[in-house]
Amino acid sequence: MKAIQVKQPGGVEALDLTGIPIPEPKGSEVVVKIAASGVNFIDIYQREGRYKLPLPFVAGQEGSGTVTAVGSQVSGIKVGDRVAWAGIQGSYAEYLAAPADRLVLVPAGVDDRTAAAAMLQGMTAHYLSHDTYPLKRGETALIHAAAGGVGLLLVQMAHNIGARVIGTVSTEEKAALARDAGADEVILYTQTDFETETKKLTGGKGVDVVYDSVGKTTFEKGLNVLRPRGYMVLFGGSSGAVPPFDLIQLSQKGSLYITRPTLFHYIITTDDLRKRASAVFDMIAAGKLRLRVAHTYPLAEAAQAHLDLEARKTTGKLLLLP
Ligand code: NDP
Repeated sequence: MKAIQVKQPGGVEALDLTGIPIPEPKGSEVVVKIAASGVNFIDIYQREGRYKLPLPFVAGQEGSGTVTAVGSQVSGIKVGDRVAWAGIQGSYAEYLAAPADRLVLVPAGVDDRTAAAAMLQGMTAHYLSHDTYPLKRGETALIHAAAGGVGLLLVQMAHNIGARVIGTVSTEEKAALARDAGADEVILYTQTDFETETKKLTGGKGVDVVYDSVGKTTFEKGLNVLRPRGYMVLFGGSSGAVPPFDLIQLSQKGSLYITRPTLFHYIITTDDLRKRASAVFDMIAAGKLRLRVAHTYPLAEAAQAHLDLEARKTTGKLLLLP
């Protein structure tokens, strides 16, 4: 089968289209014929070696497809079932051997591409808005990169809760998408100082929560726009890592809270995983969450997908089609 392997970390040239055997399922695994593989920022960090994996590895963590073989100890999943996943390494490929207890069944009304697009970013938007800082009606959230993969989903969920959403984006095109997803205000943070603007928009009160996936270029100012005892939820570093930070600033800036969460800890058990995925699928079925699969690429063009994501050219979700 074809797969995108990383033999040595590096630039996009490290993504090597190669031929490897179709995997056989071990006892508790199933083998899935992949319909769509999700592209996520974490794939870039792994390719670069910022997040280290044993070499060589097949890139990609997310996808959807149809079960073609089932290990002897598997129950509850059978050949022909449509499944989806996040956090299983080796998803930039035609087939994947996956632990059965880390898969979710895809409901009939959700197509393969939507399922692949919903898993990692959908569950992330869900845990951020419902658990890390459970947003309430009438509160105000500042969401950076509001037209990105996680961003567009988080904006919709926050809007559906009844929160006021201030989004930041780099272009007018992205601003239109963020507004369409439910952002009440959009700041072009590449042209306007988002700290000044957010203070203005909240009448100096500040926001209840900042959801920050951009990191290096936004973190410091984000602390300045929080209300006293507000929440900084730093969940990524698309612009680079946040440098070391003196905790006394939290006291000086209003007894703030800060957390650096990651999806895995919100889907530790199979039950947690399936409940959270179901919550996202239910939102899709109810017409409350729209997935924007804006960019699809043949598997062989994984490098182009990474280049586009890194260059801030994309909106919504990127998928590779094996
Ligand atoms: P996005 O689609 O959000 O792409 C990244 C966006 O970040 C860009 O489109 C761009 O939006 C913005 N950005 C700002 N500065 C830069 C820069 N210097 N270089 C590149 N992009 C920049 O990606 P994802 O939705 O896949 O992921 C978003 C972030 O969330 C990543 O940092 C990822 O690691 C993190 N993440 C964290 C998870 C967790 O559980 N902790 C789970 C999932 C994702 P604009 O042009 O509008 O500025």
